[in-house]
Parts: sequence; C-alpha cells; structure tokens
Amino acid sequence: MAERTVVALDVGGTVMKGAILGPAVHVLVERSWPTGRHLGPDAVVETALAALEELAGHPDARATRAAGLVVPGTVDAATGTVVWSENLGWSDVPLRELASTRTGLPVAFGHDVRVAALAESRLGAARDRANVLFLAIGTGIGAALMVDGHLLEADGYAGEIGHIEVEDSEPCVCGGQGCLEAVASAAAIARRYGQRSGRPVDGAAEVLAQVNAGDPVAAEVWNEAVEYLAQALAIGASLVAPELVVIGGGLSLAGDALLLPLTRRLHELLTIQRRPQLVPADLGDRAACLGAGLLAWEIA
Ligand SMILES: [Zn+2]
Repeated sequence: MAERTVVALDVGGTVMKGAILGPAVHVLVERSWPTGRHLGPDAVVETALAALEELAGHPDARATRAAGLVVPGTVDAATGTVVWSENLGWSDVPLRELASTRTGLPVAFGHDVRVAALAESRLGAARDRANVLFLAIGTGIGAALMVDGHLLEADGYAGEIGHIEVEDSEPCVCGGQGCLEAVASAAAIARRYGQRSGRPVDGAAEVLAQVNAGDPVAAEVWNEAVEYLAQALAIGASLVAPELVVIGGGLSLAGDALLLPLTRRLHELLTIQRRPQLVPADLGDRAACLGAGLLAWEIA
C-alpha cells in the first residue's frame, strides 16, 4: 500500500519552502520558489497557491490527506486569515479557504514563527521543555512563547518582540522608531554596518566576518545588536520565565559569536528572574515547513 503523505508550504519574505512529508514528517520531496514580493501582494498569493497545487499534484504526493500552510505577519489561525503581513503586503487575505479551494484538500494554517517553535518543541532543540521562548532573527525578528506547554496565540498577536522599543531613532517597517527589529535583525545589522562604514554588505554574515577581522565599526554594530537583543529578552524572561531560549532564523548561524555574549549580557540584566539557557535551533530554516507538516498531519 502506498505511504500516505501530506504537503506543506512555508511562505517566507524571500523564498517559499515546500515539502511532501510522510508519517512522522519524514521528508520525501523538498521544493522552493522565489516569493517575488516585488510583483505585488496578489502575485504572491498566486505563487503560494500554485506552489501548493504543484506539491499536491506531484507523483510522490500519494494518498495526500491534507496540506499545511504557514505565513509571516499577524495570522488568525482560527479563521484562516492573514490579518496583516507587512513583508508580503497582505491584509485580510482568507488564505486557508483559497488554498483549500485550489487543492481540494483540508488545509491547516498557522503563523511561521509559532509553527517553527512547535516543530522545535516536538522534533528539535526544545523537546521535553514546557517553558520556551523561541526567537527568530532574520529579515525581521519575531518570537513564539511556550508557557507551561502551551504556545501563546492571543488571536494572532502574541510574540511581537521585534517591535519592543530599544532605542529612539531608527525607523521601523511597523511605523514606529527604535524597534528591536530595526537595529538587531540580520538585515538591520548589515544595513547599519553599511551606513557607518560606507561599505555596503550583503548580509550579517559579512559583518561578523569583519568583526573577526578586527574591524571596530563591525564590532560596534554587532555589540549594539547583542545589547538590544539582551534588553528585549530580559523583558521576555521577566514576563514568561522561559527555561530555554531557542535562537532561530538566519542570525542563529553566527553560533557562539552571538550566543555567548548574548547569554552573558542577558544573565547580567536578570536578578531574581529565572536565567534561561540559550541554544541554537536544531531544525534551521526548515523548522516552519516541518511544523506546517505537523499541523497537516493533525487534520489528515
Ligand atoms: Zn517596529
């Protein structure tokens, strides 16, 4: 008998990652597509629907029972609606219904960072932990909060740690100023280094290479980002007392260059609060897609 499968899609700001998954989210096929957000919000919706259709119609998608779909932004998982996604330009898009109509499958729907945290808690770095703060640092910064074993949803609004104000000048995509995301995301680190040094770089990895090469401007930008991240995590640690902080997203690839100073500074800022352990994500940039697969199996 053919193995049953589900299909999963993680709609990112730059790339969409898709997979066909067997039981226990065993990955059978992986695919990716450029998001193409410069083409506009409607085109991105169409790209996502076409990607799901391609996965569901793939010869390896046998006996497919369900699809899982995760997106960034403010997501109402109960109604299957993207309320607002600044990175994709979406507002009030009934994406679950559109996807279900297009594929003929029941569709499980969720928020990329919360679903990535779910995957880390079932399959990765946060297994067997009940109180976890998952921090995704990439183009933007988002958090997922697991408290006493429950992922906080709050109608889709929980976890906006990236929009805590940590300084007072840098403009943010949200319309505010001085947000954590505007000064400590991977994109912000690269942008701020380019502005201060006069040497534009492609990403935070290049800034870290400059830190290691002894560039004082790179060290200043990096250390400021660490300080701001520690300040925001201290707020999170004070409010929900995680035992573990899992760092995901592209900046987690910095490894100890990020984790060691961030742990040291965070622990300095905490007094009576629980001091969490900081670890990198296990599942890397596949966490949200695998999590979409977990959601799909729940309804398959
Ligand atoms: Zn903001």
